[in-house]
Amino acid sequence: MIYQRSSKLFKTAKNYLAGGVNSPVRAFKAVGGTPIFIKYAKGAYLFDEDGNKFIDYISSWGPMILGHAYESVINAISEIAKNGTSFGTPTEIETEIAKLVISKVSNIDKIRFVNSGTEACMSSIRLARGYTKRDKILKFAGCYHGHSDSFLIKAGSGASTFGVPTSLGITRGTSKDTLVADYNNLDSVKKHFKEFPDQIAAIILEPIAGNMGCIPPKLEFIQNLRRLCDNYGSILIFDEVMTGFRVGLGGAQESLKVNADIVAFGKIIGGGLPVGAFAASNKIMESLAPDGLIYQAGTLSGNPLAMIAGLTTLKEIVNDPDIYSRLEEKTKTLKFGMEKVLNKKGIPFKINMFGSMISLHFTETEVFDFISASKGDNNNFKKYFNGMLREGIYLPPSAYESCFLNDALSYDDIDFTLNAFDKVISSI
Ligand SMILES: *Cc1c(COP(=O)(O)O)cnc(C)c1O
Repeated sequence: MIYQRSSKLFKTAKNYLAGGVNSPVRAFKAVGGTPIFIKYAKGAYLFDEDGNKFIDYISSWGPMILGHAYESVINAISEIAKNGTSFGTPTEIETEIAKLVISKVSNIDKIRFVNSGTEACMSSIRLARGYTKRDKILKFAGCYHGHSDSFLIKAGSGASTFGVPTSLGITRGTSKDTLVADYNNLDSVKKHFKEFPDQIAAIILEPIAGNMGCIPPKLEFIQNLRRLCDNYGSILIFDEVMTGFRVGLGGAQESLKVNADIVAFGKIIGGGLPVGAFAASNKIMESLAPDGLIYQAGTLSGNPLAMIAGLTTLKEIVNDPDIYSRLEEKTKTLKFGMEKVLNKKGIPFKINMFGSMISLHFTETEVFDFISASKGDNNNFKKYFNGMLREGIYLPPSAYESCFLNDALSYDDIDFTLNAFDKVISSI
């Protein structure tokens, strides 16, 4: 495969865009090589500037669950754009999509739309803090909640309770209010509640993790988080930016049968346009401006383009609920096929999956938290990623990301992928 034009475009981009990209993972730093510049996409495929075709296992990191350039979504966007793209006023369509989401997701009465998953999570913790009148939040190592200050924090070393920033530019004041625990490890959570019984506003987590590979939670763990929040008067926030409308219409709340107090959305809810949202019961949402004293706003929030893309995507899913079993079957086929190849070659691996999320880890031990996910052999991952790319398979360019299948993917595509996989793994 030739990436001549992509290389050239990246070189030029680096002169004008910080690092040549608008989101770091796209720069391929973790896997080496040149980022591929995509010209267009259709269904399950991406087409790059050099004329190469790829089977896409990222689906724009989740939103394109129906496949790329899905006809009804594109038509709806084109049609509504003719009437203007943003007015900064209420529109009917905002209520329409709100009504649909609230009817499908349990435990929420009201919703507020924003422009990204980052905003959704950032606003969710402000809401939890304002509602409980407490300062601290508890998050889990390896869970991603966007790039706002409070979340770019890792556990401090040794006996220290306070988190430390994972990025420059985050104040000590901020990091001292973020407590970090280990995913799937209840004791690490209890420890913080013991130390700060009346200061923790909320636990926030990816109820099914997708940002350290795919890590399904232990059910007991999630149930116990619910219990701890009830006992200590804290809010349980499910960051369903990834899992919302991906693992089922009701999201992880439905899959795990555990209720959250605040739910954050993104990705699929915007059907490929920049949208996030957060939602909760009437009691909690009443505290939000203009009714309450917790401020949150957005110039382009709920704009008609974004809302119609989300609404049309969600309607397609609602009208075709079998999409989830189809996606899961395809993911299983992929998983079994990969397992067969890896077993034949005797390479240590773990494959995690939940619904249409799947990740391959080159490690012998179970992958259930950030530390176990970090044990993967990154050299093997690089060879795997670049080998697959040469074969025309576009995977997430980082060992810490999950693949997302879309409904346009065919069994022929999966066969093609598995043949490529056999070839690539043989050469590792
Ligand atoms: C993608 C993601 C975010 C951030 O969403 P952006 O739209 O990129 O800001 C937050 N939480 C989770 C779980 C995500 O997967």
